[in-house]
Amino acid sequence: MFDTLSDRLTGVFDRLRGRGALNEQDVREAMREVRVALLEADVALPVARSFIDKVTEKAVGQQVLKSVTPGQQVVKIVNDELVAMLGGDEVAPLDLDARPPVVVMMVGLQGSGKTTSTAKIARLLKEKQGKKPLMASLDVNRPAAQEQLKVLGEQTGVATLPIIVGQQPVDIARRAIEAAKLQAVDVLLLDTAGRLHVDEALMAEMKAVASVTTPTEVLLVVDSLTGQDAVNVAQSFSDEVPLTGVVLTRMDGDARGGAALSMRAVTGKPIKFAGTGEKLDAIEAFHPGRVASRILGMGDIVGLVEKAAAAVEKEEADRLAERMLKGKFDMNDLRSQLRQMQQMGGLGMLAGLMPGMKKAKQAMASSGMDDKVLVHLDAIIGSMTPRERENPDLLNAKRKKRVAAGSGTSVQEVNKLLKMHQEMGRAMKQIRKMGGLKGLGALFG
Ligand code: GDP
Repeated sequence: MFDTLSDRLTGVFDRLRGRGALNEQDVREAMREVRVALLEADVALPVARSFIDKVTEKAVGQQVLKSVTPGQQVVKIVNDELVAMLGGDEVAPLDLDARPPVVVMMVGLQGSGKTTSTAKIARLLKEKQGKKPLMASLDVNRPAAQEQLKVLGEQTGVATLPIIVGQQPVDIARRAIEAAKLQAVDVLLLDTAGRLHVDEALMAEMKAVASVTTPTEVLLVVDSLTGQDAVNVAQSFSDEVPLTGVVLTRMDGDARGGAALSMRAVTGKPIKFAGTGEKLDAIEAFHPGRVASRILGMGDIVGLVEKAAAAVEKEEADRLAERMLKGKFDMNDLRSQLRQMQQMGGLGMLAGLMPGMKKAKQAMASSGMDDKVLVHLDAIIGSMTPRERENPDLLNAKRKKRVAAGSGTSVQEVNKLLKMHQEMGRAMKQIRKMGGLKGLGALFG
């Protein structure tokens, strides 16, 4: 997701940053390119327009253009506006403060991933927040929809409301509330029926269910792969039911990203979760700041460190975070990151998450390398002397040859590793300058 957009924007900004001085014309020119990139990524036109207006207004200011690093400043403005467009700095958690059972109603079109997301969220609530959830399917249209939720309940260990064949949605909803009260359930998740398109019957049914259950959360599930259509769907739903948030599914796919970028502006509601795969643990809280950095090609350092923290020894993650904060990043650090990557599922998953990884991965893919490359890279670093690892600048042609021979690779591969290290270092510096690591200290503090 976001790959093309990210490439386009990185291109524009690399050119901007590459220049010492900027004038208003340069900024306007760059913004025109950004606008085209956004539209090509399927961002809704009014959203793209308002974004460009805001950025341009701030970016052509004298303070920016006269600063020592105008290009950098413009990128920061774009970053900040992107974060705002995605919903601001904070993650939007579910509102679970109401008297239990808190009702979470899931709405959306058929095939959007509604049932799967219901189970994923229920699982999160149970596993991560120690809540007692109950799920009920009100989908009497699609054959086997209720059965599907039951199976997902069995897989996640979350209780589901017993199925009574022939019962209608509003009655099922009433029964679900009763059951939830009797069983001292904390959160009741209602998976409502979807249709293939927005229609009156669907809307009427949703309203009826909402009126008997007074949900605290009404989450619209939208498939990010549907691009502009997702935006239209969101618009129709938010006109009809009081949405409280959005779940964006298939963020793992190759959607162009416009849906994600427009959703907040169109619905006025936060994206609360992102679905990232078919598995039942493939869901994440939506972090606007991280997504923005990912789009701008700066990688998702905080996300990376969090993942690393989950996968590796806490001590090692602490050490890594501290070094990143200090802007230190030598071959030893790169090596331990590479090893973590291997533990975390290889390059595919981490590409784009880590600064420089995306480019490195592209370079690798184009030269026919794959995950085995991690093993090679590890071997290359292993063949360096401790001094070289701490200070890779020492690696002149002669030393590179020795390292290549020692690791059974080629000087070309050694160069690639050095380039990757350089790119990561640069990306980290950039993120530090932009204050993007604010959260990192807190994470381990
Ligand atoms: P519903 O009709 O809206 O209830 O849709 P389902 O929950 O049945 O999902 C339809 C298909 O999409 C299923 O095969 C899911 O496994 C898949 N799916 C749901 N969410 C995601 C996601 O975030 N990523 C991917 N790759 N697939 C998903």
